[in-house]
Amino acid sequence: MKIKTKLTYGIGILFAMIVLLGALSLGYINKLNNETQKIYTNNNYSLNYCRNMLLVLDNVHTSKSAFQVFMSNLQKQQKNLTEVNEKETTDRLTFHFEELKNKMNEQNLQKVRSDIYAIMNLNMASIYHKSELAKQTANNALLWIYMTFSTCVFFALAILFRFPHSIIKPIKELTGGIMEIANHNYDKRLNFEPTSEFGEVSTSFNKMAERLNEYRASTLSDIIANKKYIEAIVNSITEPIIGLNNEKEILFINDEALNILNLKRENVIKKSASELSLKNDLLRRLVRELVNPGEKKEPLKIYADNKESYFQANYIPIKIVETGETELHSIGDVILLKNITEFKELDTAKTTFLSTISHELKTPISAIMMSLQLLEDKRVGQLNEEQESLSQSIKDNSERLLNITGELLKVTQVETGKLQLMPKITKPIELIDYAIKATRMLAEKFGCHIEVEYPEKISKLFVDSEKIAWVLTNLLSNAIHYSKENSRIIIGAKQIDDVVELYVQDFGKGIDPRYHQSIFDRYFRVPGTKVQGSGLGLSISKDFIEAHDGTLTVESEVGKGSKFVIRFNVR
Ligand code: ADP
Repeated sequence: MKIKTKLTYGIGILFAMIVLLGALSLGYINKLNNETQKIYTNNNYSLNYCRNMLLVLDNVHTSKSAFQVFMSNLQKQQKNLTEVNEKETTDRLTFHFEELKNKMNEQNLQKVRSDIYAIMNLNMASIYHKSELAKQTANNALLWIYMTFSTCVFFALAILFRFPHSIIKPIKELTGGIMEIANHNYDKRLNFEPTSEFGEVSTSFNKMAERLNEYRASTLSDIIANKKYIEAIVNSITEPIIGLNNEKEILFINDEALNILNLKRENVIKKSASELSLKNDLLRRLVRELVNPGEKKEPLKIYADNKESYFQANYIPIKIVETGETELHSIGDVILLKNITEFKELDTAKTTFLSTISHELKTPISAIMMSLQLLEDKRVGQLNEEQESLSQSIKDNSERLLNITGELLKVTQVETGKLQLMPKITKPIELIDYAIKATRMLAEKFGCHIEVEYPEKISKLFVDSEKIAWVLTNLLSNAIHYSKENSRIIIGAKQIDDVVELYVQDFGKGIDPRYHQSIFDRYFRVPGTKVQGSGLGLSISKDFIEAHDGTLTVESEVGKGSKFVIRFNVR
């Protein structure tokens, strides 16, 4: 039933009950009033007349006024004949009074008196009877009024309690249904009476839920299909690949990765990589490198399928723009392991080759240098000017060759892990002096002025002085080579708290910021560099410094010069 109809019925019934109650009360009050009025006019008047007649009866034959009173009351009584037998009794009284008027004696008097008493009794009996009737009416009235009032109260209470409930119930059900839909329970349906106001709402709601269900079913199958497709792609990648969310749970992993990590798919999907890594060294290293991106990432050496393989881990952060947002934010990472075994083998072969060649070249170059020294010895014979210039050229090139072989040997030492440090306590000035002495000839050749900046107090270093002196020499030699002739070069040291800095600053051509990283790579030379060189010096220098847990950095601006700074923590 519609709420409007319920409301109309409820209030209508209540109104009808109130009207009934009012009418009933009025009716009964009216009836009671009539009855009491009747008692008063019909009987009470008669009683009054009778009493007046009795009062004057004894004097009617002596007093004229008494007689008149009697007569007037008798006449009034004759007009007020309301009860059964009252007329006969009054007529009898009139007759006996006539007799008394004619003959005044005690017998006649007695007859009149008894007639008056008879009328009084008649009226008294009637009053009693009517009072009983009024009482009955009052009782009936009370009963009916009580009954109607109770029904009224019952209806009012029923409306009071039932009506808000009947309105709130469907609203509650509707709210609950909407909440269920919000919680993705699209199976929720509402069953309101079709004729009620909510009937239409429930039909629309059910239609919406059904559509959402269909939509979910279709998108779910799409998502599953897409997921399978992506899984197939991930599995078809020949390189090991692992996908993690921001909580470092494994979302996907291909067979290749499972194989090298020695894991089973069912044990890893949706599991925390950090927890799994407690029992898996390789995974632990991958997760550690992912969490600490600054760490130096060495290739992973893995024994799989009875052979030694090398993998380089690439960490790719995955960022997306969420629906309704404008900025990218991270949703996880992908770890891609690149199998570099082949490159590693080639690299090892190259290093071995370089090592052998540089080693083998050193002996003949030394022999050439020795022969040159003998050639320059005047005791062997005087060289003419042209021969002397040729011999100088052979000497310069042999020295360069010796330098290059020396650098190559150092590279192979670093790459094969054969770099051995022999640290001892060293004053920074000793290293600076060594570098200045080693490059004196070169500085003189280019007319460079080397200035030394050195504080009064500085901590000593615990380093392999030969290696650090070599680095400083290399930096100073670069500074001379890449500056104009006759320019200033500063070499110095300073201490800031626990950090000792050694630096070489020139005011030469400077380095484009694009190359500030690459100049420390093997064989890298800034494009357009005319000075001869191998591109190895800075990379070896960086390796030597980092082997001491120090850092080598560059500050440089094109046209203004460069400053290379070595930093050691002396705490
Ligand atoms: P090499 O000097 O043998 O080429 P390095 O590794 O010492 O190799 O240096 C790499 C490159 O960095 C050089 O080729 C040069 O282009 C650049 N470079 C190094 N030092 C300086 C410097 N002081 N000023 C300008 N460029 C420099």
